[in-house]
Amino acid sequence: MPKKHYYNVIIVGGGISGTALLYTLSKYTDIKDIALFEKYDTLASLNSSAKGNSQTLHCGDIETNYTLEKAISTNRTATMVENYGKLYGYENKYMFQIPKMALGVGDEEVQFIKDRYEEFKEEFPYMEYWDKEKLAEIEPALLKGRDENEDIAAMGTNKRWSAVDFGAISESFVRNAKKENSNIDIHLSKEVEKIKKIGDKFEVIVEGKPYYSDYVVVNAGAHSLLLAHKMGHGKDFSCLPVGGSFYYSKIDSLKSKVYTIQNPKLPFAAIHGDPDIVNDNIVRFGPTAIVLPKLERYHHAHFLDFIETLAPSPEVLEVFYDLMHDSDIREYAIKNFLYEVPGIRTKLFAKEVRKIVPFITEDDIEFAEGVGGLRPQVIDKKSKKLFLGEAKIETGEGVVFNMTPSPGATSCLGNAYTDTELICDFLGANFNTKLFNKELVS
Ligand SMILES: Cc1cc2nc3c(=O)[nH]c(=O)nc-3n(C[C@H](O)[C@H](O)[C@H](O)COP(=O)(O)OP(=O)(O)OC[C@H]3O[C@@H](n4cnc5c(N)ncnc54)[C@H](O)[C@@H]3O)c2cc1C
Repeated sequence: MPKKHYYNVIIVGGGISGTALLYTLSKYTDIKDIALFEKYDTLASLNSSAKGNSQTLHCGDIETNYTLEKAISTNRTATMVENYGKLYGYENKYMFQIPKMALGVGDEEVQFIKDRYEEFKEEFPYMEYWDKEKLAEIEPALLKGRDENEDIAAMGTNKRWSAVDFGAISESFVRNAKKENSNIDIHLSKEVEKIKKIGDKFEVIVEGKPYYSDYVVVNAGAHSLLLAHKMGHGKDFSCLPVGGSFYYSKIDSLKSKVYTIQNPKLPFAAIHGDPDIVNDNIVRFGPTAIVLPKLERYHHAHFLDFIETLAPSPEVLEVFYDLMHDSDIREYAIKNFLYEVPGIRTKLFAKEVRKIVPFITEDDIEFAEGVGGLRPQVIDKKSKKLFLGEAKIETGEGVVFNMTPSPGATSCLGNAYTDTELICDFLGANFNTKLFNKELVS
C-alpha cells in the first residue's frame, strides 16, 4: 500500500467541523497520518463560510428556543471557540465583540424576557436586562418609528465575542494544524464517493481511486447521511434539508445582534438582524427557513441524493403530518416559503423586519442572492421526531457520521472533542485532554 494512500484517520469534509477535528487531532493527540478530503477547491465554501450562516457564536443566552440546560451545554462549546480565537490573537480579526440581545416586543414578550432573564442570570451572570430607556441608548434603531405605546425589552450583553467568521476560523484550523503535524495531507477538489470496510481498514474511494485508513469521520453536512446510507448505516435517520436565506439592508440601522423570540417548537434560532462582519455597511436580516429538495443550497440540484437521504417511509410521512398538523409550524412554513417567492417576498419580509427596526421599508431591503446555506435537520424514524440539533451516527466500527445543523459552527470544537475521544479509544492513541481543557475549556 503506497504510504500517501494510507492514513490513520481520514476526515471527509473541509467545513468547520472537519477542520476543527483536524486541528484537535493534530494539536492534542499523537496520531500522525491524517488526511482531509474536501470536494470543492476551497475550504468552508458552503455552510461554514461567512456568507452561509448567521455569523453568531450561539451561547444559548439570546436564543429563546434553548432551554437553560441546552444553553449551558451550548455555552460550553461556544467558550471553546472564543478561547481558541484568543489563543491565536483572532480578536477583532475573525471574531468581534458586538452587543447582542434577545428582544421582546409587546407586553407578553416583555414579560417573557423578564422571566427568562431571572431564570438565566445565575448561570449567565454577564447578561443584563435592558428596558426601553436603556435600549434607546444601546440601539436607537429599535425605537425609531415605533408606536410609543408598544413596550420593548431585551436581555443582552456586550461582553461576549458574539460574531465570528466561521469560514476564516476553518482556514485557521488547517493552518494551525499543519504547524503541529507535518504529516497532514489536505486534498482539495476531491470528492469522496464511497466508503467500504475491508477487514480492519476502510477503503475510501475518491474519484475512482482508493485510499485507506484505520478510522473515518464524515463531516460532510447533509452528505454525511448519504454516505452513511450507502454503507448501510443510519437507516433509522432521514434528512430534511432546510435552506436559509438572508436579506441585506444598506440603511444605517443596527450596531448589534438583535434576535427575536422564537417558538420553542422550532429547531432554529429566530429571525434576527445584525451588522455583517465581512461586508462593511450591510445589515443582514434572516435567515428564512424553507425545506428544499437538494443537499446544497446553491449548487445544482442533487435530487436523487436528496431522495436517498430523505428515505421516504410511513414514519417520515407521519413526522411531516404531525409537523404540519401544528398550526404554528404550518403558518411558519407557509410564511417562510413566501419569503423566497420573487415579486412578493421583499414586501412580506419587510413586515417581519419591522418588528426589529420599525422604520425599515420594502425599498430598504433586498434579497441577498447567493447568500445563506442549508441545515441538515435529522428525523429519527424510530421516535418519529425531528432532532432539534446535531446528530451523530457512531457505528463503533471505526467510522462516525456527523450531521450538523445550527449551532454546528459554534459547537465545532465540542464535537471535535467527542470524536477525538472516540478515535483515540478505538486506535489506542493518546489524547492530551488536560492541555485541551486548559487551553480551550476554562
Ligand atoms: C442559514 C444558516 C444560518 C446558520 N447560522 C449559524 C450561526 O449563526 N451559528 C452557528 O454556530 N451555526 C450556524 N449555522 C449552522 C452552521 O453553519 C453549520 O452547522 C456548520 O457550518 C456546519 O459545518 P460542517 O463543517 O459540519 O458542514 P459544512 O460547512 O456544510 O461543510 C461540509 C463540507 O463537506 C464537503 N463535502 C460534502 N460531501 C463531500 C464528499 N462526498 N467528499 C468530500 N467533501 C464533501 C462540502 O463541500 C463542505 O465543504 C447556520 C446554518 C445555516 C444554514
